[in-house]
Amino acid sequence: MSEPKNETIHSEPSDNATTGCLFIISAPSGAGKTTLCNAILKKFPDLCYSISHTTREPRTDEQDGVDYFFITQEKFKNNIEKGSWAEWAQVHGHFYGTSAQFIDRHLSEGKNILLDIDVNGAKQILYRYPHSITIFIMPPTFETLKQRLIKRGTDSEQVIIKRLINAETEIAQKDLYKHIVVNDSLPEAIKTLSAIISDNQPR
Ligand code: 5GP
Repeated sequence: MSEPKNETIHSEPSDNATTGCLFIISAPSGAGKTTLCNAILKKFPDLCYSISHTTREPRTDEQDGVDYFFITQEKFKNNIEKGSWAEWAQVHGHFYGTSAQFIDRHLSEGKNILLDIDVNGAKQILYRYPHSITIFIMPPTFETLKQRLIKRGTDSEQVIIKRLINAETEIAQKDLYKHIVVNDSLPEAIKTLSAIISDNQPR
């Protein structure tokens, strides 16, 4: 097993006949992606959320099986060997992955799926499911991002610094995405995101 690199593609394109649509949302930490995703899921009740698996510790307000499936490194690596991930990546020092079985089953049932994953994961999903709709959420400024991470109060100073360094790398790759939404005003961002989802629903 090798460490994921920026351009690593972990799996071959899926030849499943798919009818649903994948919406990939990426954003640097603190851009407000979770709030936006929750608003979108409320607005589009038929949209399925792909609950990721991670080896990081749950935060105080997070629930296993709701926010993430929290699993051990051993289990995660086992699943890499078995080819169970549609994509996986190491983000901020932890493993994160999307279940291939979940995606393929829901797509074949004609369901549309929302994925909240990082840029490396997005590249892998695009390779495997080339018709995915990609959306990048931008903070209005880098300073806003920093202030939001500090105000959130969930991470140590060291973690915040790591997240800010990663944010720069992710923002530098935003042009890989078809849609870029600036989260300056939350209602405006929800409106823009909703329009993208509505316009791209398979008919
Ligand atoms: P957090 O630890 O703050 O919940 O998430 C950190 C980063 O990991 C975010 O950018 C989030 O989008 C990304 N992430 C969450 N789940 C997955 C996943 O399944 N795959 C990948 N590649 N990234 C993920």
